[in-house]
Amino acid sequence: MDVSIVIPLYNEDESLPELSDWIARVVTENKLSYEVLFVDDGSTDNSWEVINEIAANNPHFKGIKFQRNYGKSAALNEAFKAAKGNVIITMDADMQDSPDEIPELHRMVAEEGYDLVSGWKKKRYDNTLTKNLPSKLFNAAARRMSGIQLHDFNCGLKSYKKKVIKTVEVYGEMHRYIPVLAKLAGYKNIGEKVVEHRARKYGVTKFGLSRFINGFLDLLTLSFV
Ligand code: UDP
Ligand code: MG
Repeated sequence: MDVSIVIPLYNEDESLPELSDWIARVVTENKLSYEVLFVDDGSTDNSWEVINEIAANNPHFKGIKFQRNYGKSAALNEAFKAAKGNVIITMDADMQDSPDEIPELHRMVAEEGYDLVSGWKKKRYDNTLTKNLPSKLFNAAARRMSGIQLHDFNCGLKSYKKKVIKTVEVYGEMHRYIPVLAKLAGYKNIGEKVVEHRARKYGVTKFGLSRFINGFLDLLTLSFV
């Protein structure tokens, strides 16, 4: 299988049908063999019913359900255990990430040999002070601590070699810093790709400042030797 597309979600029922159609169209046009793994992180809306409906119509789509909200890191970690593709691409469920990025993110890992390629939302569409300013500060700190020259550690769109995601353990709020975990595990060939960022079409953001801070505290517990 060429690619597993991993999508953590918490109360995103409105986006899922449109997102699924778009992904299926892009991967089919690009002749990629694929699976899509939705991880329902304890949604209280109809996300799980919608996932089941999508999976019933297209066997490439599968769902994993948490009984309560464990967080994006736990959701990614669970899907990473199940993923079968040679390349694993993660993306958010809210359509702020564009499925049109999938073919190039796949190619950079499959053909250019990157262990990991991280998206860079160079032009952002959630221009609030509570998101952009902390994001700049935490990215600068993460660059200094890890030596990894990424602009946007927290971008949901990332592409990995299978062996990378089978090695890293993502916990707490560490989904923001998976490139750091990968580097500490010995995977140093890390690339970056500017990706299109879109305004949230449905629903609301699930991350406030406190989760940014928790993420950074998790980063501080790593030892950089
Ligand atoms: N998400 C999740 N569990 C959570 C919070 C968020 O699976 O506890 C998902 C969410 O549904 C979305 C992705 O993580 O698919 C990114 O969240 P969000 O769009 O709210 O973050 P933002 O883009 O505002 O930083
Ligand atoms: Mg979002």
